[in-house]
Amino acid sequence: MHADKSGDMLISDRGELKQRIKDFCFAQGADLVGFASVDRWEKMNEVPPDFRPTSIWAPARTVVVIGIAMPLPIVETTPSILHKELYDTCNRELDSLAFNLVRYLNRQQQAGYFFTRDGYASLKVLKEKPYAAFSHVMAGKYAGLGTMGLSHNLLTPQFGPRVRLVSVFTSADIEPDPMIEKELCIKCEACARCCPKDALKPKEEELIADYDKMACIEMAEELTRRRCYPCGICIKVCPIGQDRLLYKQKGILKKYLQESEALSADPEDPEYKTWTHIRKYGSW
Ligand code: SF4
Ligand code: SF4
Repeated sequence: MHADKSGDMLISDRGELKQRIKDFCFAQGADLVGFASVDRWEKMNEVPPDFRPTSIWAPARTVVVIGIAMPLPIVETTPSILHKELYDTCNRELDSLAFNLVRYLNRQQQAGYFFTRDGYASLKVLKEKPYAAFSHVMAGKYAGLGTMGLSHNLLTPQFGPRVRLVSVFTSADIEPDPMIEKELCIKCEACARCCPKDALKPKEEELIADYDKMACIEMAEELTRRRCYPCGICIKVCPIGQDRLLYKQKGILKKYLQESEALSADPEDPEYKTWTHIRKYGSW
């Protein structure tokens, strides 16, 4: 590997840098790593210009998107203290990974910039301005990690939407990964039917549902007061993802769909005892 006078990675070295970045991320605990060239934001023209990588950081040429999986059995307990801790741990791990990757890139004589996992200070801020400055979901799509589902989550072949993402920009030109062309969402509407706030309204003619962000934020506020934020029920019930094969759960979709009604009728319903036991302790 060598650099030209400007310090830029030479074309012949790009493959090697890509492999090194992947090796570094996987060694640090990443479950998924994908590469997007910044021109995909321009070509796709789905993200407003100010929210594109080169508007945020002009030298950006490649966005490395890193994913960490959320194990299904913990996600199924949501809302619970276990799920909250899992969510916080994933975020912490992702932020450390992104921070360490930028330092690693710098040691390889490459400029880097990372965008933290959660780009907002509080739900109050999010309520007043319901956008982050950068979307990891769109970055994940452009890096070939998945496709956007009806629920507005990124669905990945490996973990469905049960994966959290962080993005690192670099000035290095790296071969992008191919985007996934076939939609992964099967439009089963389980996410919309199980949403406790009815925040997802499926549309006949389109895959992506209308999303009532304020209703979702209200749910988040309720759960924050109870110290068991976030909700993530739409993430729990999505049937997409090879991670499900590990757990061999027959009839699980029916169980998800009936959960709310069954627990309203009988909060001690034995069918849901493993989840309700966890929910009873450690938070309100
Ligand atoms: S996080 Fe909860 S409230 Fe928000 S859309 Fe998903 S299921 Fe609905
Ligand atoms: S639950 Fe069904 S409709 Fe919702 S995102 Fe997953 S596959 Fe798509």
